[in-house]
Amino acid sequence: MITLKGSEVSAKIKEQVQELAGSLEGTIPRLAIVRVGERPDDLSYERGAVKKMRAFGLEVQSCVFPQDIANEEFKERFREINDDPQIHGILVLRPLPRQICEKTIEEMICPDKDVDGISPVNIAKVFSGDPSGFAPCTAEAVVEVLKANDIEMAGKRAVIVGRSMVVGKPLAMLLMKENATVTVCHTRTKDLSGTCREGEILVAAAGRAKMINSDHVGPGAIVIDVGINVDENGKLCGDVDFDSIQEKASMATPVPGGVGAVTTAVLAKHLAQAAGYKQGGEHVSG
Ligand code: NDP
Repeated sequence: MITLKGSEVSAKIKEQVQELAGSLEGTIPRLAIVRVGERPDDLSYERGAVKKMRAFGLEVQSCVFPQDIANEEFKERFREINDDPQIHGILVLRPLPRQICEKTIEEMICPDKDVDGISPVNIAKVFSGDPSGFAPCTAEAVVEVLKANDIEMAGKRAVIVGRSMVVGKPLAMLLMKENATVTVCHTRTKDLSGTCREGEILVAAAGRAKMINSDHVGPGAIVIDVGINVDENGKLCGDVDFDSIQEKASMATPVPGGVGAVTTAVLAKHLAQAAGYKQGGEHVSG
């Protein structure tokens, strides 16, 4: 089985980002990461995103608010970030605390700065196959892994485990756009392992440590693991039991070292595109 490394895909995306950023006549794309509170998951994602933006030559600032900030106050502060012409892209770390209305933020965020595809405008574009919208970075990262490794999607049977708005659903649209035949599984799917075995491309995005094993993988399948979990020993692991699929899969992404690194690279690409769009360039994501 071949291990599909995220770092190699990320390096390819870096070249695209540098080309895009180089055409911006001295403007350096700037990302604002909006974080409320100190959730360890958020801090870890933020660290990875900051590191990646800097490594790609882009600027990044963290906008941090207290966990108990009132909804109205947060909306006001968010509006300032949204209106700031120095900021080209905004990443909101979610879930936000209960008192904050996430839907309002999704509707408020300027679609041209919405580099992680949470605005209804971008979601509608992704679902209608319009390439001028920003897709959620993780969903797009899966497609980037396949493309960078010259894996044909057209005509392939793709099975996704998970139907969230962040990964499963937008990914189904992106894979369909690439002419794959897509099945989406969830907790009510009957015969999950049998359905997964039909996938020539199998994407695990359920958030359940090591739930996908050799029973779920058809001979020669390509397995993309989106999951980020902690196993019984406190170690980072994916949704796929990587060791158990070695004899069945032809290729698979590891965790860590797989899709996660590509997600932040896609974020950087979206940021460079957003900065280009602001300068009157063509608005094309993907
Ligand atoms: P959600 O919890 O929002 O969604 C999980 C989905 O998986 C749901 O649709 C759920 O079904 C389905 N599911 C859960 N358990 C099972 C099961 N036993 N059998 C079949 N389907 C199941 O998670 P997210 O989509 O936000 O994230 C998924 C994973 O991806 C997580 O591990 C997360 O940490 C990771 N992630 C990784 C990122 C990266 O950059 N690599 C970025 C974002 C997320 P139902 O709808 O029926 O409840």
